[in-house]
Amino acid sequence: MYQKKAYQAILESKCPKCREGSMFVFPLSKINKFTQMHEICETCGLRFEVEPGFFFGAMYFSYAVNVAVLIITGVIMWLFNIRDLVIFIVTVLSIVILLLPLIFRYSRVLFLHLFGGVKYDDSWSRGE
Ligand SMILES: [Zn+2]
Repeated sequence: MYQKKAYQAILESKCPKCREGSMFVFPLSKINKFTQMHEICETCGLRFEVEPGFFFGAMYFSYAVNVAVLIITGVIMWLFNIRDLVIFIVTVLSIVILLLPLIFRYSRVLFLHLFGGVKYDDSWSRGE
């Protein structure tokens, strides 16, 4: 049976244990419900919040991404000789708000995959 690679599971926001079950209830296109997660993996039964408050740590991920957006925007504007603070703030805020659903989801996905301590296990697919 075909097995997903870890990066595919991350890209597709899949469970780190089985790489099949979705972590989120709705596709990203349902933009008003982007935060809703499954509590338990529908495929293998893994509890996504591996310990209470686990996803609190994912906030540091999104924070780091937002800081990166701020710095990159600043550098680009500086390179193009745009030295207007208001334009800078509006640009950064627009990018951060536009990316919010993506950053929210992928910081959780990455955090769970990297720090959740969940090992890949395909035994569910063999019916064990
Ligand atoms: Zn699973």
